[in-house]
Amino acid sequence: MTTKKDRGRVITARGPVAPEKLGKVMMHEHLQSDCYDWKNKRLISEEKPDEARRQYLLKDAVPHLKVCREHGCLAYCDVTMPPWRGWPTLYAEVSAASGVQIIISTGFYREVELNTYWAKFPEEQIWPFVRSASVEELAEYCTREIVEGLHGTGIRAGAIKLGSSRPPLTPTERKAFHAGARAQKQTGVHITTHCTWLGSETSQLTILDDEGVDLNRVVVGHTALHLMNKDYRKTVIEWMKRGVNFLPTNLKVTKAASWLPLVEAIDAVFQAGLGDHLLLGLDSGYCSESGEFGPMKSLPLPPFAYMFTAVLPALRGLGLTAQEEEQILVINPRRILPVQ
Ligand SMILES: [Zn+2]
Repeated sequence: MTTKKDRGRVITARGPVAPEKLGKVMMHEHLQSDCYDWKNKRLISEEKPDEARRQYLLKDAVPHLKVCREHGCLAYCDVTMPPWRGWPTLYAEVSAASGVQIIISTGFYREVELNTYWAKFPEEQIWPFVRSASVEELAEYCTREIVEGLHGTGIRAGAIKLGSSRPPLTPTERKAFHAGARAQKQTGVHITTHCTWLGSETSQLTILDDEGVDLNRVVVGHTALHLMNKDYRKTVIEWMKRGVNFLPTNLKVTKAASWLPLVEAIDAVFQAGLGDHLLLGLDSGYCSESGEFGPMKSLPLPPFAYMFTAVLPALRGLGLTAQEEEQILVINPRRILPVQ
C-alpha cells in the first residue's frame, strides 16, 4: 500500500488536486459529526448512507460553503473521524455543489470524560473499536482509508485526526496516537489533533516524535489559549522551532476585543520568524454532540462562512495584517496539506 503517486498533491473527496488550487483553507471543520443518537440513547458506531441527512446537508450546508468560496476559500479540512462522518459520497457531492474542495480525515477521537456531552457509561466514551483493536490494527485501518478509500467507495482520506483530553493520555488515546503516527509515516498525509488542555500538546507531540513522525507534518488544534497565554506561548514557540504547526479555532467574535491577545500572539509568532507554523479553523459545521443533529451551537451562525463574514474582519480590525492572513490561510495550508 503506497501513496507515492500522490506526492505533492492534496487528497480531496473528489480526488488528488494541486495545492495551488486550494485558495484560502479552513483547517478544522465538520460537515457531519454525528456521535450520538439521542432518540435511541446510543453511541453511533457505524457509518452508513442516510438519504435524509444527505438532503439536509446539501440544502443547508452548501449555500454557506458557497459564501466561503466567494471569499476565496476553495478548500477546507474536514476533521471528523470515523464512525461519525457522513457517507463518503456526501463529501464529494457537497464539494461539487459548493465548489469547495474537502479533505476528509481518518483517525480516532479522544475519550470523552464521563458525564460530559453524551457519555453516561464507560463504553460511550470512545468508539469501542479503538479500545479493542491493537496499535497495528488501528494503523492499518487509517492507512487503508488513505490508500484505498472509505467503505469501498474509492473516496480517500487525506489527513489523520487524533485527539486526547488531559495531558496524561488515557491508554486508549495513547494507542491511537501510536497508530496514527505509524499511518502518517506510511502515507505522508498530515496529522491534525484535538488539543484543548495546556500541556496536552507536549504529551501528544512526545508520542509522535518518539514514533519518528516529522513534526512539520503535525497540526495541533484548538490552541488559541496556548498562544494567548504569554507564559505558555514559550512552550508553543519551542515546539514551532521543531516544526510543529498550531491551529487556533472556535473564535466567537461577538465580543471582538477579547481576541486582541490572540492577534498579539500571532504577531509575536511572526516577529519570532515562525509565522509559517500558524493555521486557522473555526471548528464549525453540523453535529449531534449536545443534542439532535444540526448546526453546532458553540459558534454563531452561519456555519463555515462565519470565518469570512465575522472572524477575519474582526481580527483585521484588531490589527491582523493582510500578509499575516495570507500566510496563515493560503501559504501554510498549501505547504502542509500535500502528501509528502
Ligand atoms: Zn472539531
